[in-house]
Amino acid sequence: MTDPAHRLDPGAPVIAIDVGGTDTKAAAVRADGTIASVLRVRTPPAGPDAGQAVVRLAADLVQRFRDEDPAFEPAALGLLVPGEVDERSGIARYSANLGWRDVHLRALAELETGLPVALAHDVGGAGEAEYRLGTGAAYRDVVFLAVGTGIAAALFLDGRPYRGGGLAGEIGHAPVAEGPECFCGGRGCLEAVSSAGAIARRFGTRTGRTVPGAREVLELAQAGDRDAAIVWEEALDGLALALHTVVALLDPGAIVIGGGLSEAGPALFDPLRARLERRLTIHRPPALLRAALGEDAGVLGAALRARAVVG
Ligand SMILES: [Zn+2]
Repeated sequence: MTDPAHRLDPGAPVIAIDVGGTDTKAAAVRADGTIASVLRVRTPPAGPDAGQAVVRLAADLVQRFRDEDPAFEPAALGLLVPGEVDERSGIARYSANLGWRDVHLRALAELETGLPVALAHDVGGAGEAEYRLGTGAAYRDVVFLAVGTGIAAALFLDGRPYRGGGLAGEIGHAPVAEGPECFCGGRGCLEAVSSAGAIARRFGTRTGRTVPGAREVLELAQAGDRDAAIVWEEALDGLALALHTVVALLDPGAIVIGGGLSEAGPALFDPLRARLERRLTIHRPPALLRAALGEDAGVLGAALRARAVVG
């Protein structure tokens, strides 16, 4: 459910679409910054044609908003997608979840919808919402870390997003341990040790017991299950090591953590903060904050990007 308290400043009316691995969420944002309407649909199935299917879905959602309120005149569309995204050229390079490679999503979506389109990485978009509207808004330099099925970061330095050559923030594929193997070809990647997906998977590999997700591993650890505790602690150690490097390199005022694992709340943040503070020597500890916008961050970020297109 979208929280009506989450809103933008007044500006251009836009449509925001956040394409997730399973669900896609779309919102119509009025000129006064309030969200007029939210639609949630299934994301098209993965495969080589998923890019075309996402473009058709976006066009269908735009039409549905127009049919709902013929007086609503969107000025632009913000489209967030997972995976590797070249935001400058508007190309979705690669998505392990959706199975596409090098799709000119921005040009195709502009053609289908007739609207100017901002194409952005899902974590970059959600991070921008947290940076400008959420818990990071009090800080100038912020690292947003999304810890869910995978792990990726978005950097906001000196008031602006920093994307490097396009893959800045892909810290999920920096090593924090000797193993296990990661789908990227590396070993011991942060994502393979500390993501919500990895926590559930590693517990299964270790014990032969299947759990639905990281939440159950945490509950088992809290109930005294030794295997669950080891998997959970190794995930925390991996995150603390990665955050130590982030702090050493960027010295951000705040690190904002979102994604599914952040829902663990103090069970995640308290031991992670303690680990990080124990590790740091000359660096000051950053504020370690839980993302505030929850599942609204994606559509709010898509709306911010759409508005940036029309100025
Ligand atoms: Zn990797």
